[in-house]
Amino acid sequence: MPHSTSSNPIVATFGSYFRARVLRRLAVYLALMLSVVWSLVAMEQARFDQLAELGSKNNVQNLSRAFAEEVRATLAVVDLSLVQLRGTWQRDQADFGKAVADHARYLRDRVPMRIAITDDSGRLLSTGATTARAGLMLGDLPQFGIHRGRKDDLLAVGGPEHCRINGRPALQLTRPIRDGAGRLSGVIAASVPPAYFLRFYDSIDLGPDTTVSLVREDGTVVARNTQGGRNLDMGRRLTAAPFLSTGAASGAFRRASQLDGIERFYAWRRLPEYGLVVTVGQAVHDAQARYAQQRAVMNSAGVTVSIVLALLGWAAIGAADRRRRALKALAAAEARWKLALNAAGDGVWDCDVTTGMATLSPNAQRILDSEHAEISWFGNKGIAELLHPDEVDGIRAALGAHIAGETPDYSYQHRIRLRSGEWRWIEARGTVVERGERGEPLRMVGTFSDIDARKVEEERIRRMAHEDALTGLPNRVLLGDRLDQAILGAQRNGHKVGLIYFDLDKFKPVNDTHGHAVGDRLLRMVAARVRGALRESDTLARVGGDEFVVLLPRCSQPLDAERVANAILARLEQPFHDGELVLQISGSLGYALYPDCGGDGEALLRCADLAMYDAKAHGRNRVSGSYRSRVE
Ligand code: GH3
Ligand code: MG
Repeated sequence: MPHSTSSNPIVATFGSYFRARVLRRLAVYLALMLSVVWSLVAMEQARFDQLAELGSKNNVQNLSRAFAEEVRATLAVVDLSLVQLRGTWQRDQADFGKAVADHARYLRDRVPMRIAITDDSGRLLSTGATTARAGLMLGDLPQFGIHRGRKDDLLAVGGPEHCRINGRPALQLTRPIRDGAGRLSGVIAASVPPAYFLRFYDSIDLGPDTTVSLVREDGTVVARNTQGGRNLDMGRRLTAAPFLSTGAASGAFRRASQLDGIERFYAWRRLPEYGLVVTVGQAVHDAQARYAQQRAVMNSAGVTVSIVLALLGWAAIGAADRRRRALKALAAAEARWKLALNAAGDGVWDCDVTTGMATLSPNAQRILDSEHAEISWFGNKGIAELLHPDEVDGIRAALGAHIAGETPDYSYQHRIRLRSGEWRWIEARGTVVERGERGEPLRMVGTFSDIDARKVEEERIRRMAHEDALTGLPNRVLLGDRLDQAILGAQRNGHKVGLIYFDLDKFKPVNDTHGHAVGDRLLRMVAARVRGALRESDTLARVGGDEFVVLLPRCSQPLDAERVANAILARLEQPFHDGELVLQISGSLGYALYPDCGGDGEALLRCADLAMYDAKAHGRNRVSGSYRSRVE
């Protein structure tokens, strides 16, 4: 059997989480958010780089200035020694050795310098201490040869090279020795070990790959110190250093070293009087290492924020997806029930309770006779304005009860005014489907049903049950109701109820003579005429073939009923015209009063009936009253 992911509930749950759509959205979200986060991190890192560069430039510039001053001071001391010792040599050569020894003693530990004197051809005459190598030829060295053919007192700087006298590395400073006539008689030279200048390196702390160098203006390295060792690069030639191509006194640059390949921030400073340049360089990585901790913190912050954002995104997108699916399912369910209701002919409405705006389905629109599919509940031309005044209070009460949670549904039958001005009976139903946090209704959906035809039919049936079909008068049933109501009113208010019972005299012969249809029309004419003699509050009912009853709900004395009975009698005597036909008729009337004759409606009817028979018995076409005494 093939493996099914949905058969395993855990896999199925995760499967729904790992939906491609969720992952795609998460990927887009993360791409956006993480690019923002890491751009910020990168900006901060760049800022640290800038800070490192600024700090480093400052440092190397300050240090190059200090280094230049130190070199200048050293060389000035050496030069001063040259000038002094040259004077001693010219004055008294025998004293020269002692003077050199004094200088050496005095300057020992400060400037480790060696002195040499040559003749005008460059042959070594003296070093002050020993003449062991006297006669050694130095004149071919540029710093010796340069003084020939000149007349000035030039300070020449030569080297670096290995000293011919002791074989050690040396930077040589020379001055000419001239006789009284200004002719060159010799050269005095002072050799200083180049490494001496690098002691400055020990006093600075800019990281392990820091370098300080003393360079000739032509790019030849005199002395250069790095962590690897002192002055390993003596005599090498820098070809691309910026100070080679400018006449400026100082400068700064950043580049990978020609000598060791390490990228550094450099500052340089020229010593034009000696044809030398000092440089101080701090490795870029050493400068940046100062911000390593901040960088690490920044990176950790970036990672933390990324993880938090990823988790939040995961949760939010998952939740949104679940909600979207739930909404989709809800929409599908809604569509199904709307379809069902529409199919049943009902109109569906959906009301946003907070705004009072209701959306109507086409059927609902038709039922309300509304032009618009969106209608306000309360606003201008809203549903509230279409309600029949008799039902407004009932609707409000039913709605209020449902909203308050007292009833499971809202349901009410009421009338709605159509655009033609006619009224239509509808049945409104509804349910609150969404409530707020405090239970307040947010959304209500429901239906409108057109029950107008049903209401008309109900009314017809109700009328049939209470109405005499031939004359349209109330029948015996309705009369009974009204009689009971009247007696209740009389009991409450202490007045009397009058009842007149009458039967047409010799009606049967009318039928027999003129036919049943004429009899029917005569009955209708009688009904209309008698009805016209009565007050609105009186009831005229047909209770049998040619029998009628008049209910007078408010009488104060028997005379009131008798007067009405006589008035009816008088009207019956008047001829009735049915086309060409003139019909003459009369009636026998009996009247009775509550509470005088019997304690309820039935007894009262019986009394009046008896009184009517009394009138028949006494020759018809008359009124007969029924009194308590007679009934008793
Ligand atoms: P009396 O003077 O004693 O009242 O005699 P009468 O001829 O009026 O007859 P009675 O009151 O005893 O009977 C009423 C007659 O009315 C009986 C019947 O033929 C007739 N009738 C009853 N219902 C109708 C009706 O709906 N239409 C017509 N045309 N005649 C009816
Ligand atoms: Mg009759």
